[in-house]
Amino acid sequence: MKKLHRRVRDRVTGFVNDWSIPRQIAGQSVMSKAAESAQSRSLRPRLEQADRVGTSICPFCAVGCAQLVYAKDGRPLHIEGDPRSPVNQGTLCPKGAGTLGLLLSEKRINQVLYRAPYAKNWETRPLDWAMQRIAERVKQTRDETFVENLPDGTPVNHTLGIASLGGATLDNEENYLIKKLFGGGLGLVNIENQARI
Ligand code: SF4
Repeated sequence: MKKLHRRVRDRVTGFVNDWSIPRQIAGQSVMSKAAESAQSRSLRPRLEQADRVGTSICPFCAVGCAQLVYAKDGRPLHIEGDPRSPVNQGTLCPKGAGTLGLLLSEKRINQVLYRAPYAKNWETRPLDWAMQRIAERVKQTRDETFVENLPDGTPVNHTLGIASLGGATLDNEENYLIKKLFGGGLGLVNIENQARI
């Protein structure tokens, strides 16, 4: 019996001694020591520098995961999932986890680019000019293509000359307004949205 007790005790002691988690917690693990260096000991979490945190929604898809945006001096330095959200509960998929890169990328286009018909090159234009131009083109196209009645007299009050394709990040409220303005207001029939969940 004593022999059995000793064997059980040795097994338990050996297991605890060999198991890496308690050894790492005690700072005794060979591996954790091997991974340490003067540089790794001096590293600090990025969030430590943040002086503000705001909330946002991931811009990539219609799941609409909530995000926390940490910033210093008005510049975002870290984005992670918001644990208060019932949608994502603090998680982000790899795309959402890369949102900071989207915000800060040097390749990001922040100006309106316009390529005239048959032109080879893009020109930079003011946003107001682009909005005005879009409004004029929509009005002109609707005026030219609006149909009140079909040849057999059936009333349709629609235009087939304009279509709307929404992006994946449009939410319910934005899609509702698009449908109201484009469908009921302008008479568009072709209204689609990229999002498919
Ligand atoms: S792209 Fe990923 S993180 Fe962003 S909303 Fe969709 S599922 Fe969430």
